[in-house]
Amino acid sequence: MTTSGSWNSTLLFSLFHEQVARRIFSQRCPSSNDIIDFCRWRWNPQFSISEAYSKIMEEKWDPHSNDGHAIWSLPVSQRTRVFIWLALRQKLMSNMERHRRGLTENPSCIHCGLVESIDHILWGCPYARNVWFLIFGANQMTITFFTGDMKPWLLTNLRSNASPPYSTVPWSTLFASICWHIWKSQNENVSVGTCQTPASLIQHSLTWAKHFAKSVTPPTSHSQHASSVSTFQWCAPSLEWICLNIDGSICSSSHHARARGLLHDNIGSWILGFGRCIGTTDALIGVHRHLSGVYMRYANANGLLNLSGYLMELIK
Ligand SMILES: [Zn+2]
Repeated sequence: MTTSGSWNSTLLFSLFHEQVARRIFSQRCPSSNDIIDFCRWRWNPQFSISEAYSKIMEEKWDPHSNDGHAIWSLPVSQRTRVFIWLALRQKLMSNMERHRRGLTENPSCIHCGLVESIDHILWGCPYARNVWFLIFGANQMTITFFTGDMKPWLLTNLRSNASPPYSTVPWSTLFASICWHIWKSQNENVSVGTCQTPASLIQHSLTWAKHFAKSVTPPTSHSQHASSVSTFQWCAPSLEWICLNIDGSICSSSHHARARGLLHDNIGSWILGFGRCIGTTDALIGVHRHLSGVYMRYANANGLLNLSGYLMELIK
């Protein structure tokens, strides 16, 4: 640099290639008032992860969109909400997606052989269609249910205030539950080789939807990622009635199952308890379906004795 603080062009062009010298010459000369370089967040003096994420995603995702509200406010399990969110974003590991990432050579559906995309799994596959047909009935199925794109299809049903054809559970809750169980069934079919019938799948979905519709409070804006589950409590039956509560467990590897139960009278006093191994079975679900929450009337000690015998027969 010269004594006046400008570039010494003669020295620059003698030391460097012309192209490099011109590049340096085009820059501002260093000054004694300059401060040391440091990293700076260009949009704000204060860096935040949320703002960085918004900047990264701004072309792909509108942070002001209320699409997420339809999902994160659903009274379903958090796992189901995440599943729906990923389905909406087309981020689930369908065979098509796995094939695109080089994880498999076969992008086809295990049911029908067509390309297995998310859309295909949830509504395009004959298996999924059988499930939806069973819900509405083939004749009553609205034509628009299977038309359009995946995203509006999901959001329209998740925002629906309608009631399902044969249940008081909100349609949005049952719809999310069915989508989740279709996805689970597809995965079980691929990994284990078992496949639920459409009727069984609907029954499971309905059971879960009823459970979550009653027990899960949708997350508030302050705790959007934590579902709050209300606590069930003892409800005394009427006089001369007894209440049966049962529970069970099943070993995921050996599939050995065990069921246990308790009988209480109308003031909550213990009457009878039982426990039994029910072998290698998936009948636990059946036991729950038949016995859970059943209230039974009894007249005397003999009647109670017979009842316990009947129960033990049921869980064999
Ligand atoms: Zn298919």
